[in-house]
Amino acid sequence: MSAHSLYLHIPFCTTKCTYCAFNTYINLEALIPAYVEALAEEIRVSGQSAPDTPVHTVFFGGGTPSLLSVAQFEVLLSALRQSFKLDDAAEISIEANPNDLSYPYLADLRSIGINRLSVGMQSAVEGELKLYARRHDHAVVQRVMPEIRRAGFERVNIDLMYGGPYQTLETWAYTLSQTIALDPDHISLYALGLEDALAGVGGATARATARR
Ligand code: SF4
Repeated sequence: MSAHSLYLHIPFCTTKCTYCAFNTYINLEALIPAYVEALAEEIRVSGQSAPDTPVHTVFFGGGTPSLLSVAQFEVLLSALRQSFKLDDAAEISIEANPNDLSYPYLADLRSIGINRLSVGMQSAVEGELKLYARRHDHAVVQRVMPEIRRAGFERVNIDLMYGGPYQTLETWAYTLSQTIALDPDHISLYALGLEDALAGVGGATARATARR
């Protein structure tokens, strides 16, 4: 059987970005423990229906997976290892908001086998981050990138968005140069749905093609 990739969704955020069209909810963090329990059970049930399925990639997306504790990731990884043939060299990624990352948290994530991080930077321009209602500023990204490396992550992706309202070639070039200075291993670029994003500026829920 060919190796499979698993995507696990963590539908919780502490704030709602103006461009977000993902299946995610704010102010429901109290449900995270029950959700983790249910997701672990779902993993076990799925594994029973396809026993010995080889898995070479696991991706925790969101939402904001970095809202989970290390213990909660351990529960999910344990369920995965019990239920599937998880390759020893499997790539296990989480998406993370820069504000959630500290060295102890990162080191603990690395120690339980999470080996790739996708950082939701989006822009290096403070005005753009405010427009998107992101809860971090660029200084946070600059501060956590060395901590991510120190914790042992060798695979780091940075998410950026382009085509947003008021973005110019100059601000985009600035964001790209700041990103390159952070020396990520991969950069993902997402086009913001411009008209919907403009609707979001007024406070309405925006629908866009951009990612977190
Ligand atoms: S864009 Fe990402 S971080 Fe922002 S509300 Fe949506 S899922 Fe949450």
